[in-house]
Amino acid sequence: MADFLDDRPRDDALVMPAAATDSETSKSLSNSSFAGLTVVERLRLVSRNVPGCVVFTTSFGLEDQALTHLIVESGIACGFATLDTGRLFPETHAVWADTEQRYGIRVEAFHPDGGALQRLVRENGINGFYQSVDARHACCGVRKVEPLGRALDGAAAWLTGLRADQSDGRGELEFVAYDAARRLLKVNPLLDWSRDRVAAFVRDAGVPYNALHDRGFLSIGCAPCTRAVEAGEPERAGRWWWEQDQARECGLHVGPDGRLVRTGKSS
Ligand code: SF4
Repeated sequence: MADFLDDRPRDDALVMPAAATDSETSKSLSNSSFAGLTVVERLRLVSRNVPGCVVFTTSFGLEDQALTHLIVESGIACGFATLDTGRLFPETHAVWADTEQRYGIRVEAFHPDGGALQRLVRENGINGFYQSVDARHACCGVRKVEPLGRALDGAAAWLTGLRADQSDGRGELEFVAYDAARRLLKVNPLLDWSRDRVAAFVRDAGVPYNALHDRGFLSIGCAPCTRAVEAGEPERAGRWWWEQDQARECGLHVGPDGRLVRTGKSS
């Protein structure tokens, strides 16, 4: 596993001021050190060592709900953000409200830019994303990727609920990566959890979850782009199911080279 702090670009003063470049910090924020910790310990490690704002982006899926619970349990200072694309399921809004009430938090909503959305719908139609992969990427760009940039503006670390076994591509992820494009650390504290483990945790801890999970929706995004999956189908088979490319992502976790953001090197 890579120790990313030794590999990161040297012009990253925004997220790694001098205090964070000493060898002790580098040692404590390495992928190998994350592996032996509980999720709460991982979160506290990040909070102790990242000199700046920590933001968790949630879409209120099962992993994100488990991580919300653990962030609150950890007591770390963390902002909660979500991308309200305008095409979410009502069930997603319902669990959003339940989550705020249960944990006493506010999840800040980031909406698409009004002008960009108006142009997109005028040019491609309200459901233009079904017509081509490019049109789908254009929609995700306006409704998700651009708002994500605003959600992470000024953040030093970005927490996600990604797991390695969600898809083949996500198997390349590590606990911590330097996201050079966004100039922050991307941290995946649930990386080594299985879906069954997440589900058991949510059940045992009484964490609020999206009612669609009980109707065969394993991975939940926008309503027109998500369907329930059959038994035995891959976890993300219900996302953009009409596309043939198996590496379907919305662009939130993809770098400029089109690959999932991961560390610069692994040993
Ligand atoms: S998931 Fe579908 S509706 Fe949502 S932003 Fe992407 S293409 Fe648009």
